[in-house]
Amino acid sequence: MKKVGVECRDISLSYGKTQVLKNLNISIEPGEFFALLGPSGSGKSTLLRLIAGFNQHSSGQLLVDGKDVTGIPPWKRNIGMVFQSYALWPHMTVFDNVAFGLVERKVPRAELRERTEAALALVGLSQYAKRRPNELSGGQQQRVALARTIVIEPQVLLLDEPLSNLDKKLRVQMRRELLALQRRLGITTIFVTHDQEEAMTTADRMAVLDHGVVQQIGSPNNLFDFPVNRFVANFVGTMN
Ligand code: ADP
Ligand code: MG
Repeated sequence: MKKVGVECRDISLSYGKTQVLKNLNISIEPGEFFALLGPSGSGKSTLLRLIAGFNQHSSGQLLVDGKDVTGIPPWKRNIGMVFQSYALWPHMTVFDNVAFGLVERKVPRAELRERTEAALALVGLSQYAKRRPNELSGGQQQRVALARTIVIEPQVLLLDEPLSNLDKKLRVQMRRELLALQRRLGITTIFVTHDQEEAMTTADRMAVLDHGVVQQIGSPNNLFDFPVNRFVANFVGTMN
């Protein structure tokens, strides 16, 4: 699969009179695992939704694979998003939940079966295809949400606090699984979290966001060793 970059050039976004994203400049490399870290309300979800095409920026440019995607609707962007709430269909089996995006895209039956089975195998859920979401643990439901997104073979994977509903032990395990899967697929991934440890232990690079402003971008080590201001120092843990 082709690896693509995502570039935010001087992007601003307002909800009514409130400016939520302020002149963001972030360039995410093809194949990178990029973490977006910031406290609640800092604009992380807003930025992800913008990249996915659910929000429109008021100024600036959003480039995917070097092309301006402004105005292109979400379903034509080849971007997959996993929400914090998973948003699985409770009345459908695991198989049908994962296959849903392929049905929507009118993928032929045989190919649909093959791709769905492959996605389930990838997240270790082949045995659970006939179950319903409420018969699974939180971690397994999380894997279904991931499989459902991966099955459409997006060029960019957006993860909005995908592990925050899980308990600490499972979160650490799923973090490793997620990273291993990302490495295997080589898919450009933007991972949103408010948990600095989660960002520090997974990301190739990360951006720290506060009140819609990028405070710093760099590798976890770089931010830890050379925070540019007090906020970053506090947030990534130097001063804890
Ligand atoms: P985060 O994901 O970092 O917690 P959000 O992107 O959800 O932050 O929100 C950033 C800011 O935008 C918050 O102040 C929030 O209240 C506001 N906000 C989010 N969504 C909307 C909306 N649909 N309408 C108005 N304000 C919103
Ligand atoms: Mg959020």
